[in-house]
Amino acid sequence: MPDTKTASVPTSPQRANQRVAWFNGQIMPESEVKISFRDRGVKYGDGAFDTTRTFSHRIFRLKEHLDRFYKTLRYLRLDPGVSSAELSRITEDVLARNLHLLDKDDDYWVSQRITRGAEGVDYLPSTPNVIVECLPLPLKERAVLYRDGIKVITPAVRRAPPEVMSPRAKTHNYLNMIVANNEVMSQDPLAWAVLLDMQGNLAEGMGSNIFLVRDGQLLTPRVRNVLPGISRQTVIELAESHGISVHETDIDLYDAYTADECFLTSTSLCICPVQSINGSSFAASGLPGPVTKHLTNAYIKLVDCDFVGQYLRRL
Ligand code: PMP
Repeated sequence: MPDTKTASVPTSPQRANQRVAWFNGQIMPESEVKISFRDRGVKYGDGAFDTTRTFSHRIFRLKEHLDRFYKTLRYLRLDPGVSSAELSRITEDVLARNLHLLDKDDDYWVSQRITRGAEGVDYLPSTPNVIVECLPLPLKERAVLYRDGIKVITPAVRRAPPEVMSPRAKTHNYLNMIVANNEVMSQDPLAWAVLLDMQGNLAEGMGSNIFLVRDGQLLTPRVRNVLPGISRQTVIELAESHGISVHETDIDLYDAYTADECFLTSTSLCICPVQSINGSSFAASGLPGPVTKHLTNAYIKLVDCDFVGQYLRRL
């Protein structure tokens, strides 16, 4: 077991009903996790995170998420002071301690987070802050996306290119995508932004990767320009095992407007159909289209949890 101390045993009913998190070696109620306003994560977004989800209360692909997390940490030259194997055990432990607060048909996002730590009088960061926490998935809020499909708009703001900040790292600085999302949401509060890269090719959304279906084959942006999503990789593997070819390539708006189907992938969504891009509709193939539906069913089988039904039951 990891070196985990229970800082404060929840005493009042209110505390017993509160989720706990792991913070720098201790399990504590979430409300007791405190970070200094001088922390470089707060001041500059100098930190990183990764998030997986549970299916029927079991964690999905934790190793893959932790591998990506530790790559981000190396990119940022940030030492968490805890090994990947330890963090894996801590993550399972935090989940186990919070499961009693979850309804049978709900599931959690489970995240590891790190900030570089508070700056001292010498202006140098001291020690990193490491947190492991859970949050219920927004199943009700996102249910409508599975019924109607996601409306995607490509904002004027472009995805930061790898020459500026590698999109392959999952850092705590999402401002590029937040500014893009704000732009899109001021046009249509229900639309989701998918940013173009500097060359005008589709890149990714604030928390999702994008796929097009053309002539029964999948097209998705190359990993140089996007986060290598674990759900993206899952879909690639499922497609290949079902005889559907996958092309990781540059895809522009012409490709998008003439595609048969489109879907987004993410940890929470898994696969979710896209209704339209910039008003150009995919409804002709039905929603979800046949390939999207086929892959959704394969995903459901893989994770042994009907995530679409789980969302739709909230409508
Ligand atoms: N791109 C970005 C920028 C993201 O934040 C996410 C969410 N982690 C994704 C893509 C999808 O990745 P995953 O499938 O691992 O959730």
